[in-house]
Amino acid sequence: MIIDTARPSPKSKAVSERMRRVRTKRTAVENRARSVLRLEKVKYKGNVKTLPGSPDLVLKEFDLAIFVNGCFWHGCPRCYTPPKHNRKWWNKKIAGNRRRDRRVTRQLRAQGYSVVHLWEHDTDERMRVRIRCAVKRRLMTG
Ligand SMILES: [Zn+2]
Repeated sequence: MIIDTARPSPKSKAVSERMRRVRTKRTAVENRARSVLRLEKVKYKGNVKTLPGSPDLVLKEFDLAIFVNGCFWHGCPRCYTPPKHNRKWWNKKIAGNRRRDRRVTRQLRAQGYSVVHLWEHDTDERMRVRIRCAVKRRLMTG
């Protein structure tokens, strides 16, 4: 079976504008995560293409890979609602993204990495706590 994954044409200018903004927002949340890491004074690398899924942030010192997920694109269980137009296509697309997130997480863990997925809806404080916990766990388990 051939699955058509070609992007359907957006319903209107307003919709394509909304999609564009969603992507811009994702960059904003990445920047927030980066500033949290800077405040924690930990060294990190951004966009590590040599690892599965090109993690957004990697703390080599702790073998910790961090993904900063946009709630829409990664199908956040709390926030995702499919657009009304092309709903079926979007659901399939987002389900595919979630499958890829799970696969990449498994691959990274198999390589000895801890993996943390931060969400766009996370507050800076929540991001800080989750990163600290992951680092602490890592230090305890070696
Ligand atoms: Zn969310």
